Amino acid sequence: MATLTDRLDHLLGAKTADALVDAFDIHTVEDLLRHYPHRYAAQGRELTEKDPEEGSHITIIARVVKADVVNMKSRRGQMLKVVLAAESQSVDATFFNPHKVKHAVRKGARAMFSGTVKYFRGKWSLTHPSYLILPEPAEGEDQVVSLAHVRGAGELAGMARATQQSGSGVDMSIFNRELIPLYPATREIESWTLLRCVRQVLDQLDEIEDPLPCTVRDEHGFVGLYEALRMVHLPDTRDDVARAHERLRFDEAAALQLVLARRRRDVAARTAPQCPPKPDGLAAEFDRRLPFELTEGQKQVAREISSDLAEAHPMNRLLQGEVGSGKTVVALRAMLQAVDAGYQCAMLAPTEVLAAQHAHSLREMLGPLGIAGELGAHEVATKVTLLTGSMPAAARKAAMLDIVSGDAGIVIGTHALIQDEVAFFNLGFVVVDEQHRFGVEQRDELRSRGRDGLSPHVLVMTATPIPRTIAMTVLGDLETSALRQLPQGRAPIVSNVVAARQRPQWVERAWERIREEVADGRQAYVVCSRIGDGENEADLRGAGKEPPETTSAVDLFDQLRSGPMRDLRLGLLHGRLPADEKDAVMRDFKAGTIDVLVCTTVVEVGVDVPNATVMVLVDADRFGVSQLHQLRGRVGRGSHHGLCILITDMNPGSPAFERLTAVAGTNDGFELAQLDLRQRREGDVLGSAQSGTATTLRLLSLLEHEDVIEAAREFARDVTEADPDLTEHPGLAALVASALDAERIKFLGRS
Ligand code: ADP
Ligand code: MG
Repeated sequence: MATLTDRLDHLLGAKTADALVDAFDIHTVEDLLRHYPHRYAAQGRELTEKDPEEGSHITIIARVVKADVVNMKSRRGQMLKVVLAAESQSVDATFFNPHKVKHAVRKGARAMFSGTVKYFRGKWSLTHPSYLILPEPAEGEDQVVSLAHVRGAGELAGMARATQQSGSGVDMSIFNRELIPLYPATREIESWTLLRCVRQVLDQLDEIEDPLPCTVRDEHGFVGLYEALRMVHLPDTRDDVARAHERLRFDEAAALQLVLARRRRDVAARTAPQCPPKPDGLAAEFDRRLPFELTEGQKQVAREISSDLAEAHPMNRLLQGEVGSGKTVVALRAMLQAVDAGYQCAMLAPTEVLAAQHAHSLREMLGPLGIAGELGAHEVATKVTLLTGSMPAAARKAAMLDIVSGDAGIVIGTHALIQDEVAFFNLGFVVVDEQHRFGVEQRDELRSRGRDGLSPHVLVMTATPIPRTIAMTVLGDLETSALRQLPQGRAPIVSNVVAARQRPQWVERAWERIREEVADGRQAYVVCSRIGDGENEADLRGAGKEPPETTSAVDLFDQLRSGPMRDLRLGLLHGRLPADEKDAVMRDFKAGTIDVLVCTTVVEVGVDVPNATVMVLVDADRFGVSQLHQLRGRVGRGSHHGLCILITDMNPGSPAFERLTAVAGTNDGFELAQLDLRQRREGDVLGSAQSGTATTLRLLSLLEHEDVIEAAREFARDVTEADPDLTEHPGLAALVASALDAERIKFLGRS
């Protein structure tokens, strides 16, 4: 008999076990049983996969409706052309040199076919699939046929022969099921082999102790784990599949939530510096001087953050809001509350350019409140200090001194602030801008930076809307606040897609639009997908690859400068320029002495030049949906209308072109974020650790199963409250351990 933790070589033999390891990283009984069928071939029902992907390896059950041997046109020899009725579809299959096949695959035969999908004139077919002639479904009839009567070729026949029972018969009953499980398979390990292995293992599996307490099972009407595993592999009905999925999905959600509950407990056990609002401090003075009124959304979020900061346990909050929705003001307001309480704040930006930008705009917003120690400073003023790696040594030293001494109330930098172990005098609050570039681990690192064992509060800001379930899970259980409303007077951005190959004159028109805007006193961005300064290209050639067929920033800069924009002031900005050059270009653009900035995605986040009104994205298909949305958020930040032109070489109608059309069609960041997630699929969102096949979330979709995640969260909370270390729930402890292997837990923390 077998248990879930048993290794497979004893049960299946070394050869098969090794192949499973190689193909799917399947080592144990549990690994194998968690390799769920991805679909089920139903007899006499709809083929679940209407249009399988070109090149995918699929298995179908079908009846042969036509089988003709024909002479090949272009060369000698014959082929067998077969038309199959697969559920409600008609599928073609072709066999070359069908000496044996023609006797087996005959009109009226029922058979299983397994092969690679190929499309021809909009219809898909299988070429030389492996096949297995099936017995007619007959109830109660003995389905053991003698080995000599197994007719078929390739893996399928091999599979049938492999199910050979102790005698010389082959158990064909599996092919007589209503639903035949079909597995994610490879050429080496076919769906068949998996089914055989699963059946063999299930036959020997001992009853499993169910990790879910029966109270919970009863409450939700879940089947037991043992039953669920049987039902997912060998269901009798569709309903079986649904019930098995429901149960197994909850397990995944529960494991996830138990890990998070533990995290939450760890965080709650920490003490944070209490920063209650002060009626006559810096924050209050800032509010008085604010040249505009905060939107209702900003006020609401500011209240949430303000009361979090007053607490003695660390805030862990995500602030999402469209580009330009006014997050920075809210964050600054919060930092001032912490400064009022006597603590330092750190603001982390993803790049040095952005850090410098932030420093600049915070100082601007603060005015006399941000220049403590200088002439004209307000009496409650603090000091805003920028620290970046590329600063000259003397400036860097001075900045360090401000930080160590506590003179700097607000410190702005890149993540190097943390990596370089900059010594803060009294860090109480950390703001991380553009969360997706920072991980939970990095945030944890920040938490250890307080004095006397205190954990600073953390506010993460992002312009990429993140579904609540993802914030709750992948990002490590952040509370979320959102700014959904843009400040008054913001003009919407209009976007257009230009098919450069079909309409080259529209590309010319794009350059003309820029000239028009500049003539009106406005500015523009032209964004390219790569730098093109020769470094990457040399690397690529070195590696024997051709550089990509996209326009580089360096090339386009030259082209525009000597062509369509001869008479305009152009600037070039990309990540490999020396830091001082980058700063100078950014400064000039901000000051309006550069009309058109040709750049790479260094302008993606946070750059704020309200006078810029046009953005042209070259090779727009090279950017992701969220990235495009972020990028175009750079224009139309003032009261002028923003225009975004997406240029692509892709053909209208292609998926890439459609994606751009979708981006052009809406300015709703939340809508686009959903589109983006769906397109990239969750695996990519969750990161590379998901790329193996033995992943945790097999059935649970963070996007689609919010209710399951919610229910599991409640369950996890109750259990953890009563039994924090799960000592009384060994099954759950094991569930957490097995569902989330070590790497996965780390990953959960990292993402
Ligand atoms: P985000 O960081 O969300 O991209 P910012 O905080 O940088 O947005 O705000 C963008 C611009 O809008 C800034 O110039 C800011 O001063 C201005 N702004 C912010 N809040 C308001 C408001 N309530 N009313 C008018 N302008 C605002
Ligand atoms: Mg910002």
